[in-house]
Amino acid sequence: MTGSRTAASFTADDYRARMERAAGAAADAGLAGLLVAPGPDLVWLTGYAPTADTERLTLLVLAPGRDPVLVVPALEAPDAAKAAGAPALTLRDWTDGKDPYAATAALLDGAGRFGISDNAWALHLLALQSALPGTSYASLTDALPMLRAVKDPAELELLAAAGAAADAAFEEIRTVRFGGRRESEVAADLAGLLLGFGHSRVDFTIVASGPNGANPHHEVGDRVIEDGDMVVLDFGGLKDGYGSDTSRTVHVGAPTDEERRVHDLVREAQEAGFRAVRPGAACQDVDRAARAVIADAGYGEYFIHRTGHGIGVTTHEPPYMIEGEERPLVPGMCFSVEPGVYLPGRFGVRIEDIVTVTEDGGHRFNDTTRELVVVD
Ligand code: ZN
Ligand code: ZN
Ligand code: ZN
Repeated sequence: MTGSRTAASFTADDYRARMERAAGAAADAGLAGLLVAPGPDLVWLTGYAPTADTERLTLLVLAPGRDPVLVVPALEAPDAAKAAGAPALTLRDWTDGKDPYAATAALLDGAGRFGISDNAWALHLLALQSALPGTSYASLTDALPMLRAVKDPAELELLAAAGAAADAAFEEIRTVRFGGRRESEVAADLAGLLLGFGHSRVDFTIVASGPNGANPHHEVGDRVIEDGDMVVLDFGGLKDGYGSDTSRTVHVGAPTDEERRVHDLVREAQEAGFRAVRPGAACQDVDRAARAVIADAGYGEYFIHRTGHGIGVTTHEPPYMIEGEERPLVPGMCFSVEPGVYLPGRFGVRIEDIVTVTEDGGHRFNDTTRELVVVD
């Protein structure tokens, strides 16, 4: 990918369009509006990323047919005014000692059901409920799971760049020594590489060697990697505000026939999942396609997680590629395809790419080799 667009290059018009789209989606879902606390939804809607670690209320109020209002502590208002989306909204600041909930309540018409961001503090929600007994609330992700799911061309460019940076990190990590070093040391190398290739935040650097690889939740530990180990690497974070997330499984020294066979199987499953990606297919079709390959080979009971999750301004978000998720794939959606096989007490294999839905299929944002890589 060429260009070096950053999150800062989204304009007030981009944010205005997103806020209008969100308010419209809320109305379609039967909601009176959306209340958005600091976190990924606020970043996506306004470009404003204050600390979420404060008890002072910051809340974006979106209601159909009304101008967006950002309720913000007075001492943070100057920062909020600098956000790229600030020209598209009205700032309503409040000072310590004043009641921010009364000010917010005045914007909500006293009644109705509102979507509220998943990560809003209970403190704030309880205060709003008691200020406005006629209101009720739904989690924003439950109410509008697909709000951020379809990416625009600029977002796709940023996700592609994040994927390319993660791939560059893999190309380096495959050249370092694994045998005789602790998982935590290789993980530190990976984190350094992600930062070196332009990430501003590392969300995870899983290094799961030998039997640890059979536990998909194992992140990293002090186990010393041995010759003969399979090692699951799964790493990602944010670059210019957009996420990366890729997995490759490497082997220290020459693999056994069985290790090679299981790795080939996961690679075939990943390919089948990828080939199931096209507009109009259901999310669950991607899961089914990958799972069928593994089940047909007799390893179905060892594939113990969903096939994929969405990615955007976070590294895990809807849509989910899982049985029962019947929503259709739409061009611009971006998510992981990451089947795995986990043999308890022995080893695991996972292969993961971020994929975007195109007009006629899918396109990968990760493209390092999916063959079994032998490391030292
Ligand atoms: Zn081995
Ligand atoms: Zn991952
Ligand atoms: Zn993932």
